[in-house]
Amino acid sequence: MISIPKGMKDLLPSESHKWQYVEDVFRTLAETYGYKEIRTPMVESTELFARGIGDTTDVVQKEMYSFEKADRSLTLKPEGTAGVVRAFIENKLYAEGLPAKYYYITPCYRYEKMQKGRSREFHQFGIECFGASGMMADAEVIRIAYDVLTTLGIDDVKLKINSIGCPNCRAEYRKALQDFLRPNLDKLCDTCKSRFDRNPMRILDCKSPECQALVKGAPVMLDYLDEDCRNAFEELKSLLDAYGVPYEVDPGIVRGLDYYTKTAFEFVSDKLGSQSTVCGGGRYDKLIEQLGGPDTPGVGFGMGIERLMLILEASGFKFDPDKTSDLLICGLGEKAKIKAIELAEDLRGSGVSVMIDVMDRGLKAQFKYADRLNVPYVAVIGDDELAKGVVSLRDMKRSEQKEVPMDNLFLALFAGIFD
Ligand code: ATP
Ligand code: MG
Repeated sequence: MISIPKGMKDLLPSESHKWQYVEDVFRTLAETYGYKEIRTPMVESTELFARGIGDTTDVVQKEMYSFEKADRSLTLKPEGTAGVVRAFIENKLYAEGLPAKYYYITPCYRYEKMQKGRSREFHQFGIECFGASGMMADAEVIRIAYDVLTTLGIDDVKLKINSIGCPNCRAEYRKALQDFLRPNLDKLCDTCKSRFDRNPMRILDCKSPECQALVKGAPVMLDYLDEDCRNAFEELKSLLDAYGVPYEVDPGIVRGLDYYTKTAFEFVSDKLGSQSTVCGGGRYDKLIEQLGGPDTPGVGFGMGIERLMLILEASGFKFDPDKTSDLLICGLGEKAKIKAIELAEDLRGSGVSVMIDVMDRGLKAQFKYADRLNVPYVAVIGDDELAKGVVSLRDMKRSEQKEVPMDNLFLALFAGIFD
């Protein structure tokens, strides 16, 4: 027996309609706001993530699936943004005019310790808006995430927002944070010790309970914002008010990726246990330039689909029942089978989902089959029906049967002839 790699899951046909539904909501909403889909490869040069996400982050230091091929180091994408930025630069999409607004749905890979809501393959929806430096873009992006959640009936997630400033305000903050942490430097985990000089803000996001305890009471970036960043944060808050998106300011949010500037936000749910963040995002004004593109600001979010599903499950969300097809046609006998094919093809041409048994089974087995797959109607064609040009149409839920002229089958299915 060969088993699935640890930390990964099959999406089985009995569950896939739920994912399709949720993905549909996301796609439709993203397009409602004028975003277009972008698809980038599953693997990128390792360097893209090392430089983009930041080489002192957990993702880059511990979690990447990297491998060598022909002397090149490649990595399975651990998140969606870096690939989109690479594609934006490489295809010179900035020449098409700004803002550039994209969305994606993608698997991501991180070699992490398995927990509820934390797996090694997971999926993200994401939104990226490139080219706008003002907070209108941040507010729109946050509004889209909020719209996705509320459209799915999730009304108990909290939006937490923060500003983590820009390189200009960070220099002073960095010093203050180092001063705060210095007396306990030797108690930090090894990874954080090495971050102390290179990137002390990362320590705030460390998952180790010891480090989390040591950063309690640390100075917060909000108190160190320069005028531009402070004004931007105030503007963001009033735009969110205008959009009707409730939020809470949480100065503790720093986000796990290095590229963020100014706006950082998370949507958290108490239905997720300790992995409480379902969506994280923010502004990254230096990322595109840092990866070799023109100086272009950006803002976006990534929403974890598995965590979203956990919330929906916990809140008792009712997905539409999964029906495999609208109709099963049973042709009994050689001639009837050919007629079944003709009728099925005709209906499929009109957008009706129709199945025909491909296993040559008897009537009883076919009814069972329809029942198991939740198919609401079965049309039987035997010699009698064939002679009269009708089908015996059975409403499976009501266990009632009616004769319907073959030509009227489409109408019969949708006109509620059993009502
Ligand atoms: P966390 O703090 O939970 O590790 P993160 O800061 O690493 O999250 P991001 O990189 O911002 O997460 O990813 C955005 C979203 O992707 C998260 O909010 C979460 O919903 C989802 N996500 C991230 N890592 C995983 C994982 N290992 N398994 C499942 N979902 C994940
Ligand atoms: Mg993480």
